[in-house]
Amino acid sequence: MRGFGFTEHGGSDRLRYVEVPEPEPGPEEVRIRVRSAGFNRLDRFTLAGIPGVNVELPHVLGSDGAGVVDRIGSSVSDLRLGARVLLNPGIWDGTCDACRAGNEALCRNYRILGEHTQGTVAPFVVIPRRNVHPLADRLSFAEGAAVPLVFETAWRALKTVGGIAPGDRVAIVGAGGGVATAAVQVSKYLGATVAVVSRSAAKEGPTRRLGADDFLVFDDEHPLDRVLWQWSEKRGVDLILDSVGTPTVGRSVRSLARAGRVVVIGATAGPTVEVDLRTLFWRQASIRGSTMAGPREFLEVLDPINAGRLHAVIDSDWPFERAAEGLLRFDSPDLFGKIVVSLPDETGSSN
Ligand SMILES: [Zn+2]
Repeated sequence: MRGFGFTEHGGSDRLRYVEVPEPEPGPEEVRIRVRSAGFNRLDRFTLAGIPGVNVELPHVLGSDGAGVVDRIGSSVSDLRLGARVLLNPGIWDGTCDACRAGNEALCRNYRILGEHTQGTVAPFVVIPRRNVHPLADRLSFAEGAAVPLVFETAWRALKTVGGIAPGDRVAIVGAGGGVATAAVQVSKYLGATVAVVSRSAAKEGPTRRLGADDFLVFDDEHPLDRVLWQWSEKRGVDLILDSVGTPTVGRSVRSLARAGRVVVIGATAGPTVEVDLRTLFWRQASIRGSTMAGPREFLEVLDPINAGRLHAVIDSDWPFERAAEGLLRFDSPDLFGKIVVSLPDETGSSN
């Protein structure tokens, strides 16, 4: 079959349609006919090559997907062919110490669909049965592909790791990315007061429409910590979600309230920071890392999505033949939400 990915690591000039074998499900696996796939920044990192991660070449990109059940492994008895489904891209082994203790997100062999395995931007993908969930009737395939990775990431980072509580002041650093658009909604859903802080005033309208209480712009003259300090009426921010890294995390820490938390979920602008430790101990604050989520967290966030209380935000939906253009949207300053690629059904029709 023809998938979208690469045969050699590198920059976007390496993106190709690649020929890979049509996958067959193992006993506890399911084959999905993909109708929509979603890109994440992770796809760009996988293309570039992540130290310590060996990918099978040629490689098919894409961690998010929704489609229909096409073939079922011999041990799977509780799924019907043709069912509309979405995929949890976080794969755990179920056997290590962490998994047996119910901490699947900390699995020693945690893998991500499309990073460690062949991905979703192809006609078919194979995945463990336990990663397959019904796609609610109210959701299109494109919406189903826009939900999984960013919502599970936002949910674990804010709730499990960040310990969000009703009434907390929450700040999300950066606007328009998939996780940011999910995190605004999840924070409001869990009862917080939410500000999004960005260098770009252009994203204020769509961010407020997602439910953000405030939208703050920072720059060199109005640095992040000063802007957040004013917003919090000099009490400090309870929880800050930061995926930017070098330019912001030190200032995020300086913006914290007593017992405040910075949760780091990425480092798109650089991985090293200088932190004033006096701020940490005096305010009894913390910096924590979070990534992806476990299966219970995935189900927890799926509930309000299926109920229509949290919504997929789609930046753009590209036909399979234009997947590369879709992936390049990550370079665009006006990106807002998820980049989706849609594929035709078995008859060749697109929805
Ligand atoms: Zn495990």
